[in-house]
Amino acid sequence: MTLNCTCGAVTLEVARKPDFIHECNCTFCTSAAARWGYYHPGEVAVGGATSGHRRTDKPSAAAEVHACRTCSTTTHFVMTEAAIAQHGNTMMGVNMWLADPADLAGVEVRYPDGLAWPGAGRADGTMCARLPPCDAPGPRGPPYSFTYSIGTNSPSEHAAPRCKVPPVVLSA
Ligand SMILES: [Zn+2]
Repeated sequence: MTLNCTCGAVTLEVARKPDFIHECNCTFCTSAAARWGYYHPGEVAVGGATSGHRRTDKPSAAAEVHACRTCSTTTHFVMTEAAIAQHGNTMMGVNMWLADPADLAGVEVRYPDGLAWPGAGRADGTMCARLPPCDAPGPRGPPYSFTYSIGTNSPSEHAAPRCKVPPVVLSA
């Protein structure tokens, strides 16, 4: 499928639907106006000029959020050099608000409670990427220690009976 920013200058090409979508309530995700689908960087072709921004309130941000240089629409995030050094370049996020809803039919939307994350500093989208589903037992920190990789989340992770907002499966 192809995703476009508002003005059309940036395109993101992905060959498959995301395994799920994280619509996180943390300040990082909401201020970016993004809900994320996760891919290996090799699965996403980005066309057009984007600008990257990374948080400055921590010594080593893990995610760099990109937006269209023309219309400022948030398009995707990539891992920073520091995060890649620690985890490998294993993941990027694509803003699934830019997808045609018909292309997302059948995809589960999850609502991680990133705003309530007890870790230091603000939660961010990379934290969301490793958050267990809302109901999963155990602590949610520390950040940036990815607990699953793309495409390997287990069936039990898909069962999320205790999300603040019930999971929604998108229909065409
Ligand atoms: Zn644009």
